[in-house]
Amino acid sequence: MRTLDDLDVERKRVLLRVDFNVPLENGPAPSAKRLVTDDARIRAALPTIQALRERGARLLLAAHLGRPKDREPELSLRPVAERLSELLDGAEVKLAESLDDVPDGEIVMLENVRYEKGETKNDPELAKRYAALADVYVNDAFGAAHRAHASTEGVARLVPSAAGLLLQREVETLTGILADPKRPLVAIVGGAKVTDKIGVLEAFLDRADAILIGGAMCFPFFSAQGHDVGDSLCEEEGIDPARRILDAGGDKLTLPTDLVAGRAFEADTAKREIDGVDVPDGWMGLDVGAGTASAYAVVIRDAGTVFWNGPMGAFELEPFAAGTRAVAEAVADAPGTTVVGGGDSAAALAKFGLADRVDHLSTGGGASLELIEGKALPGVEVLST
Ligand code: ADP
Ligand code: MG
Repeated sequence: MRTLDDLDVERKRVLLRVDFNVPLENGPAPSAKRLVTDDARIRAALPTIQALRERGARLLLAAHLGRPKDREPELSLRPVAERLSELLDGAEVKLAESLDDVPDGEIVMLENVRYEKGETKNDPELAKRYAALADVYVNDAFGAAHRAHASTEGVARLVPSAAGLLLQREVETLTGILADPKRPLVAIVGGAKVTDKIGVLEAFLDRADAILIGGAMCFPFFSAQGHDVGDSLCEEEGIDPARRILDAGGDKLTLPTDLVAGRAFEADTAKREIDGVDVPDGWMGLDVGAGTASAYAVVIRDAGTVFWNGPMGAFELEPFAAGTRAVAEAVADAPGTTVVGGGDSAAALAKFGLADRVDHLSTGGGASLELIEGKALPGVEVLST
């Protein structure tokens, strides 16, 4: 994969694709101005932005925001351009409302690329229009690299192209875990559905030394083993894949041995601890139990490499956050290399104030899972061809 060192950017116009798909909210009345509520993704691109500026590049930033059907004004990148300007100590960031009228400037940001009809179709004509605006292309949008879109793939074929520092680090870290991990390699996989994570589980069955399962996705496993799941969230289509994983997993796979259940998916619902994994009718398993959490913590502590994706329970509800918190703390304290991928897992780490305590917190949910599954990402492939 080509990197920044392979490009000459001095006095060049660099089209820099970034993942600025950040959450926005309306600010206080009367202006009700749209405001960025979490700028982590913007900050993650700063090293590449600064490196390119230091090398004398003029930047043309391209990013998507949400899934606009047409030019929906609430999905304008203007608040993002303003936030970036603040993060760059007030450097001017101009917004180009139209591809036909891109202003001159040291840092210019194109409007939401998904305002363009051909973007998600990887329309070659649109890719040409992007290419005409730049001398060089750099992709730092790891979170969008699993999509072949005009601004992530098409344009990269038309001008000299390379990976930015964030994308490079994401790819090297995540592929490194699979290729040459410090052992033991421990994968913690949780979250809502088995079918979302099946590829990841299969990849780790081949390569990990231990796989610790948590979250609602343990219920298809328990169901396959003949346990009662009560009213737990138990994905029906997940039961057969879970059975296959159980058969193939042998002694690598560890499931919870106790649970915390609630009457409903609510913070103020009745709560009970279950010693075992049979959930009575009228109750739903919403967290792993304390015994499971401490057993998992021991395995995590002794790991050479830890990969964590997916919360251990309904961590958004405080009474059911303890299992996820215990695992997050164990990962934060682990002496081995620790890598966390996935939107909700990252949100959980941030909620517990532990985001800085892991070696690598992936900015890409879907993209990081696809890399772990061993899939080729179109936005990455194109940077080596
Ligand atoms: P990630 O985004 O990290 O890949 P997922 O999207 O797969 O994670 O899963 C996160 C969601 O799973 C959270 O919203 C959480 O509330 C939910 N969840 C986890 N465990 C349970 C459970 N036992 N019952 C219901 N929902 C759960
Ligand atoms: Mg999620």
